[in-house]
Amino acid sequence: MLEISGMKSSAVDLYHFINGKWLPVEQSDVAECGSGGAETLSERDREIADRAVQAARAAFDNGWNRAGLAVRLETLTRLIGEIDKRREEFAQLISAEIGAPIDFARKNQVDTALNHLAAILAAAKDNHFDIPVSPEQPEHRIRYEPMGVAVLITPWNWPLNQIALKVGAALIAGCTMILKPSELAPLTGLLFAECLETAGVPPGVFNLVSGNGSSGAQLCASKNVNIISLTGSTRSGRAVALSAAANFTRVALELGGKSPNLLFADCDLEIAVKQGVAHCFRNAGQSCNAASRMLVEDCVYDHAVTLAAREAENTTVGYPNQPGSHIGPLVSETQFDRVQNYIRQALDEGATLVAGGLGRPDGFDEGFFVKPTVFADVTPEMSIAQEEVFGPVLTVSRFKDEGDALTQANHSDYGLAAYVQTTDMNRADRLACRLQAGMIQVNGTSRAQGAPFGGTKASGIGREAGIWGIRTFQEIKSISGTPFASISVRL
Ligand code: NAD
Repeated sequence: MLEISGMKSSAVDLYHFINGKWLPVEQSDVAECGSGGAETLSERDREIADRAVQAARAAFDNGWNRAGLAVRLETLTRLIGEIDKRREEFAQLISAEIGAPIDFARKNQVDTALNHLAAILAAAKDNHFDIPVSPEQPEHRIRYEPMGVAVLITPWNWPLNQIALKVGAALIAGCTMILKPSELAPLTGLLFAECLETAGVPPGVFNLVSGNGSSGAQLCASKNVNIISLTGSTRSGRAVALSAAANFTRVALELGGKSPNLLFADCDLEIAVKQGVAHCFRNAGQSCNAASRMLVEDCVYDHAVTLAAREAENTTVGYPNQPGSHIGPLVSETQFDRVQNYIRQALDEGATLVAGGLGRPDGFDEGFFVKPTVFADVTPEMSIAQEEVFGPVLTVSRFKDEGDALTQANHSDYGLAAYVQTTDMNRADRLACRLQAGMIQVNGTSRAQGAPFGGTKASGIGREAGIWGIRTFQEIKSISGTPFASISVRL
């Protein structure tokens, strides 16, 4: 039985899904949450991981790569239908596993995942995987071939979303795969596996290993794996990249962030601050692309701080099963302690607390609930300005001019997203070109469906979503001497 995040106590039945069969997990195998090397794995878990890789290898070598794009498109279409039918089950599970308020789980977590799958489907229909190098050279072709066996490792914070982005893209590319979902949201992964089973995915094409970071490390160390795609912390990404290097296994990494939100005096300050605070606190601050560093032009800085404090005070905190637009608890005690430590450290380093702070919000004596918190007078060298907090904690800093804003924004190990609020479109364009981040959003504009998702620097390697996600799982082969016109089968 599952209980809501912040109060969960009892164990749940977990399974692996290998070669089309469900295998019960021995609880001791996944009891420890967290990451680790493969050397900390039990003999049975090592065997399970190896069996999953063998199943995926055999399914790839025995024909999934030659099944044809039409079959893969049909499979993905059926999968989308299955998820759509079970969207309420997904929403309830996500809410129970990670503490997301139920309306947020329904409208954001589940819908976003379905939108990603639809974008992958559309991209696969719109892009040919076997094309001439140029119209003038039809005897020279480029084939985008499936890489082979993919290991897909996902986090807990947008659990269905991350799984959908990876599985949808790998499936369409023609890979076979082993999914290792987060140990903190295992049931979302199992429900996804059930949907794939019902959608008729052949045995071995999709496999799931339930386990913690050690299971992930075992999967990544296999010579039989061709690509590893991990979404998670920068620490896990580094461990995976090091392990993959031994076998020259490809890696795609979607990692952490500390994204700046630049507010210039010419923007609508009320709206920009309101949206900026909401963006930072979304999913209780547990989003990689959270706009967690607000940088404000000097002349409107004090006003922005007042507005941000007011927004934080108006942000309600509530239980996951309660309807409404409140934010929920954090996912775990570890995460709660980590956020409290960052708040303590910010106070010690001299940041000015203008809303929230240490401890739980009024009315909560237990659970991993955190006060929506805003720090002002944050300077670039403070840890709260540099490290990913992953909680509802916003920093507000001041800048002198555009150059200073750019310098502060780029002064970060991370480079996932950056946000700009200004009515001066020339300035917005200049900054969009010079900000070191994979994704720039101006004046609250949402990213387009199918637009590439991912970052630079310590935020990762590669992109997900739409055609960009599919390409991650494809090798590029150049063929000269066979005329393009003679090719009758589209990949
Ligand atoms: P995490 O790194 O602790 O775990 C992520 C996954 O990696 C889990 O499945 C875990 O079991 C596995 N793992 C851990 N150590 C491993 C190892 N050595 N080898 C193989 N697998 C290993 O991250 P988390 O706490 O689940 O997620 C939060 C992090 O994910 C944050 O840093 C957040 O920014 C990041 N994230 C990034 C994106 C993005 O697209 N850039 C999206 C969502 C989350």
